[in-house]
Amino acid sequence: MAYNTKRVTEQQLAAQRDYAHEASVLLRERFGTPTAYVETYGCQQNESDSELLRGMLSDMGCTLVKDGSQANIIVLNTCAIREHAETRVFGNIGAFGYEKKNRPGTVIAVCGCMAQHESAAEKMKKSYPYVDMVFGPHALWRFPELLHRRLIGKKRVFAVEASDGFVAEGISRLRDSDIKSWVSVMYGCNNFCSYCVVPYVRGRERSRLPEDILAEIASLAAAGCKDITLLGQNVNSYGRDLDCGTDFAKLLRQVDKIDGDFLVHFMTSHPKDAGEELFAAMAECKKAAPHLHLPFQSGSSRILKDMNRGYTREQYIEKVRLARKYIPGLTLTSDVIVGFPGETEEDFEETLTLIEEVGFHALFTFIFSPRSGTPAYSMEDNTPREVKQRRFDRLLDMQNSISARLHGEMVGKTYRVLVDGENQTGGQDYNLSSRTASGRLVHLKGDKSLIGKYVNARITGSTTWSLMGEVTEETEVK
Ligand code: SF4
Repeated sequence: MAYNTKRVTEQQLAAQRDYAHEASVLLRERFGTPTAYVETYGCQQNESDSELLRGMLSDMGCTLVKDGSQANIIVLNTCAIREHAETRVFGNIGAFGYEKKNRPGTVIAVCGCMAQHESAAEKMKKSYPYVDMVFGPHALWRFPELLHRRLIGKKRVFAVEASDGFVAEGISRLRDSDIKSWVSVMYGCNNFCSYCVVPYVRGRERSRLPEDILAEIASLAAAGCKDITLLGQNVNSYGRDLDCGTDFAKLLRQVDKIDGDFLVHFMTSHPKDAGEELFAAMAECKKAAPHLHLPFQSGSSRILKDMNRGYTREQYIEKVRLARKYIPGLTLTSDVIVGFPGETEEDFEETLTLIEEVGFHALFTFIFSPRSGTPAYSMEDNTPREVKQRRFDRLLDMQNSISARLHGEMVGKTYRVLVDGENQTGGQDYNLSSRTASGRLVHLKGDKSLIGKYVNARITGSTTWSLMGEVTEETEVK
């Protein structure tokens, strides 16, 4: 089914470039050499959006700094998935507001999913008068215009109107890394899982054109990028709004043909949509990482129905079996929610048995967080917080022992790893950080000149969360 995806026109983008130019003049007048700081909360899509914000700020003559307290323009790119994330953002807005008293010309902007969420936008309007600009993901491409509006006028700027969303190409981007890059393939979500705000704040599913995606990846590969993650809330829906007969598996095959020594990851997949076509493409494509992030959320079919996930426990397990048939040695990671409204002890036990049966390398685990505006917000929830916490701790214990076991099984083997930076956590003995093709973290000993290169690493030790290794001439064991 093709539907009408709104695309930002070249004319609209040219108008934004004009606003950027005018804003740069105003910023120079106000600050001399303007500085800007972007703080990111939440998921990879937000990380990617922050690169666009930095790109636009740089176009407006701003120097990006790493400390918000030094910046003339402060942008908080927020997340609305959990209450905890919102609380943190409001705390930080308060701290920046306090600093603004000493530097009155400072501009504070709040954007991202939380800004688009009605209750949070209202709160900022009423209780945070020092926030100059509030805009949601739909208005991100209009950032130069919104900033310009704030710089010439007195009124605070709010751009949080409901929208199905747009696709905007050609916005400047300042990438965080030359080695690893995000490439969005689509935006928004049509799934309406009962606990999730994303469809409300990020709009309907809309795909970028394959030629735009392929051109972006080709230029990244030509510039030496070694690791590309294709992003979308549900990548398996890619292409459904396009008339060209493409889908995500076809896109993956096209990406695989691009010249260059790089690997392709993607996230997130939805168990109801990921299927044989995708697994066959992953098996065929040499550049596709042998890793699947497939959120299951609960092991109980009854709870999955209340979550509106569109699959049962049995169907999930069957998908995993099929994926492993096509890709032996596949690394699986997943998301799980503990304490969804109405979750009984039996439901929770089913979650534990699913985890045991599948054997995930890692899990992103969350206690249910009610979000206003979603169906789950008003579901009856009688489980006390302590009980949820106990279940969460049990789950974590189980997953930690599985992760430790799976990592332990890698010791003594050799893997091709991408050295992606200096090691921040592994101590002096392991000065480099690297990742296997399936995304496992390996602390390495080696010369800094290896950063940005693929090397073979023999795994010499393991913990629950990571591996230790040494560079070797031995070849990889598949
Ligand atoms: S698939 Fe479900 S959990 Fe994921 S973004 Fe869409 S609604 Fe949210």
